[in-house]
Amino acid sequence: MSLSLADVLAARRAIAGVAVRTPLVPSPHMAAVTGAEFLLKLEIAQPIGAFKLRGAVNAVAGLAAGVSGVVCCSTGNHGRGVAYAARARGLRAVVCMSSLVPRAKVDGIRALGAEVRIVGRSQDDALAESRRLAREEGLVELSPFDDPLVIAGQGTIGLELLEDRPDLAAILVPLSGGGLAAGVALAAKAIKPSIRVIGITMDRGAAMHESVRAGRPVEVEEVPSLADSLGGGIGLDNRHSFALCRALLDDYVLVTEAEIYRAIQTLYFEDRMVAEGASVVGIAAAKAGRLPSFGGPVATIVTGRNVDMAAFTDVVAGRPVTLGDIHLEGRAYAA
Ligand SMILES: *Cc1c(COP(=O)(O)O)cnc(C)c1O
Repeated sequence: MSLSLADVLAARRAIAGVAVRTPLVPSPHMAAVTGAEFLLKLEIAQPIGAFKLRGAVNAVAGLAAGVSGVVCCSTGNHGRGVAYAARARGLRAVVCMSSLVPRAKVDGIRALGAEVRIVGRSQDDALAESRRLAREEGLVELSPFDDPLVIAGQGTIGLELLEDRPDLAAILVPLSGGGLAAGVALAAKAIKPSIRVIGITMDRGAAMHESVRAGRPVEVEEVPSLADSLGGGIGLDNRHSFALCRALLDDYVLVTEAEIYRAIQTLYFEDRMVAEGASVVGIAAAKAGRLPSFGGPVATIVTGRNVDMAAFTDVVAGRPVTLGDIHLEGRAYAA
């Protein structure tokens, strides 16, 4: 299936009334830092606290009648979206996650009535379990990113961005499996071909970036990160998001854990918002001077707010944080 703007417009009709049309607000602090208008697309305002609701609702709406249930792997937010969408349709939902997924995300999914399976230490392990359950229990598997309906659902963000601000010069997109970046780039470039779409990831475990460089999906080692929602590979048998990202993204930018740490503080202290590490990589890249001037307004997608409260509190309080073999010095916020 090749995707087009028509699929994104259809997704918008399918998700209306469940997923919210989120606000796009200016960040005066980031405008001062970058010297250009800097806008935040607040997907933290979705009912499940993350944009993944859009793709999940569109995918569940596209299921054939008679399906008994759905299964997925997730770094947390896709599972939450699938659980929410499945419950609304009275379907059974099973969510497979690795032990790297923060407890708060696991609890949030259970609270929505889904069955949770914790397996292994990587997204690949969770994916294998999800495939097994699909085969053995007759459930329909919903990929977090490599599914045309999921990509079209995430693409509705691109429609809203350009409706609100047709003058946008660039969109900074947090990037993992690439469903979000593929959908947003597809929609935004169909409407405004000159717009630049930049994929941003943490520097350890940047699966899409490595794959695009290699010219084919490659495996990367998954390590703990402040941007836990960006963990995991893109699937060696990737069918959709890899080709779309390769064709549509203008550039890839990587940020360090220390830069993500400071960007979480920045969004909290300057804009008074609670957001995940994955949500602030666009801010991190801009603050670290890793982006060119785009010659016009820039928007970044603040993708989710489902933080582990204890870890989040450590960061905003400026306390040290340990992530596997990485030790981040404590550092109180200073603009
Ligand atoms: C899933 C997710 C992303 C990345 O989306 P992909 O489609 O996998 O690239 C970014 N931020 C948050 C909060 C997410 O949950």
